[in-house]
Amino acid sequence: MELEKNLPVILLADEDADECNLLKKVFCNEFDVVSVTNGLDCIDFAEKNEIAVALVSLKLPVMDGFEVLNVLTKNKNFDDVPIIVITDREDSEGEARAMDSGAAEFLTTPFNETVINYRVHNVLARYENRRNKIEQAEKDKKIFEMHRTMELDELTGLYNRTTFYRKAANLIQAHPETKYYIVYLDISCFKAINDLFHMETGNLILKTAANYFLKTIQPHGGLCSRIEADHFVLCVPQENLDIDGLIEGLDSELQNLGISHNILFFAGVYPVNNIYLPTDQMCDRANMALHKIKGNYMNRYAYYDAGMREQMLQEQMIVRDMNYALKDGQFTIYLQPVYSLAKDTIVSAEALVRWFHPVNGMISPGKFIPVFERNGFIVRLDRFVWEEVCKFLRAQLDAGIDIMPVSVNVSRLNFYNLDLLEFLLALLEKYDLKPEMLKLEVTESAYTDNPQQLISITRMFREKGFSVLMDDFGSGFSSLNMLKNLPIDVLKVDMAFVRELEQSDRARTILRFVLGLAQDLGMGVVIEGVETQNQLNYISKLGKVDIQGYFFSRPLPIEDFKVLYDKYRSNRVPVL
Ligand code: C2E
Ligand code: MG
Ligand code: MG
Repeated sequence: MELEKNLPVILLADEDADECNLLKKVFCNEFDVVSVTNGLDCIDFAEKNEIAVALVSLKLPVMDGFEVLNVLTKNKNFDDVPIIVITDREDSEGEARAMDSGAAEFLTTPFNETVINYRVHNVLARYENRRNKIEQAEKDKKIFEMHRTMELDELTGLYNRTTFYRKAANLIQAHPETKYYIVYLDISCFKAINDLFHMETGNLILKTAANYFLKTIQPHGGLCSRIEADHFVLCVPQENLDIDGLIEGLDSELQNLGISHNILFFAGVYPVNNIYLPTDQMCDRANMALHKIKGNYMNRYAYYDAGMREQMLQEQMIVRDMNYALKDGQFTIYLQPVYSLAKDTIVSAEALVRWFHPVNGMISPGKFIPVFERNGFIVRLDRFVWEEVCKFLRAQLDAGIDIMPVSVNVSRLNFYNLDLLEFLLALLEKYDLKPEMLKLEVTESAYTDNPQQLISITRMFREKGFSVLMDDFGSGFSSLNMLKNLPIDVLKVDMAFVRELEQSDRARTILRFVLGLAQDLGMGVVIEGVETQNQLNYISKLGKVDIQGYFFSRPLPIEDFKVLYDKYRSNRVPVL
């Protein structure tokens, strides 16, 4: 059977030639009309060709209309092809059976041309409608899934960063009467967990945390997201957040995983006060608060305050400008004299770095040293300071002035450089100085962090002739027991003790005890931070120690220090 017109195909299965001719006449303009005269041929043609509609008489030889219907309606390929049966008038039982077997419609003979035309077109329109609906539903489903995958984090099913930013902004702005928190959470040392265990373990932790957030935050009008790696961000109405409870609950969920490693989440909390602030900036602020406490096991969360932003901007400035500042000569050293009560005179000085920033003026070391200790720049700065001190000492010697030792601060990061000792010795050689002229101050906390390494390095320094001082003694947690094993020359007692002297018996007792201990161990003592006559009186009663403090002199620019020193040398009288 040849198809001729490239039109949709209408298949007529009818033995009755008159009926066939009439149907052909009705449909030949719109369809390629193919006619068969038995059920088997009907099925055969239908299965081999694409047909738009079949008109099947119930009375067919070989296989009757019901059998044809049965075969075709079971075949999935004919889901979209209406099969219309042709019945005799009065055969209402046949009509019912045919409709029941999946016929789309029935036409009764004798035919009325207009009626059959309408009926067939109606059926086709109905089917097309149905097809369109199905297609549209499938499209909608795909679009929905695409949106879902675009909106959600694949691993945890929480919102991803972009979605969270958008949804949180909408939520916060839609409820101006509700106060929200943005909570930024991060696991400490997640990288170590991934390294120590398999990635699956890391993923399990992330999924467990995500489920916990979904369970605790979502039902209370909040949103949860994983914005990257092990960083989760929540947006929660303030009245619904019990942050202690949240962290405790999370801890116990994670403990239940039975991983032999402490997995601790830390959180930074930003109370939203400007609902129109872009969500990414809200998250930055929560993250800033988090950075304040990350790794500090006593505090698992912190709230953002405006000072943090200031500090962050300042830190950014410090990091941005540090390299140029060093090249540009913006760093300089000040010297603070150390006064001996026993000798009633200046016996030493400490070099303290100062940064004169062209725009921001003088920046105190308390602001930039911690930043440099974090980013490693302190090593370069310390070396610069040591060299400046050597230059100063050499200039004094060249001017025929006898010098006294100057102490320099040695940040702990220096100990990771194998050439530290070599560097110091080369400096002394360059400026032709003896090691006794340079005293090295190492903070107490450096010793407690890594006692064995520090002890052996300190020994090496002392063997080469340097004096080693323990700075800020009493501010950390060094045990007195450790002290007796430490090969150090001088304890510099932290300022906090002096500040307490006048009010606290305890401070006085501890100080007395420390001085006795130092004496027994053959160590010298410098007491830092002496500011008043009264404090000096207390200290004088304890013994003949060295003091460093504003009462005697603030840290001075080199030229001023020289004047002070000259005054002492020429008068040979106590400076005080
Ligand atoms: P530090 O080494 O313990 O230095 C003593 C600090 O106490 C100095 O602060 C000094 O100005 C201050 N000070 C001295 N006497 C008094 C006093 O009577 N009252 C008060 N309130 N303060 C007094 P500065 O210069 O601000 O330095 C702070 C810290 O920064 C230093 O503490 C030291 O840890 C660090 N630092 C300073 N310069 C350097 C450096 O070149 N390298 C390294 N690594 N750290 C440095
Ligand atoms: Mg010091
Ligand atoms: Mg100190």
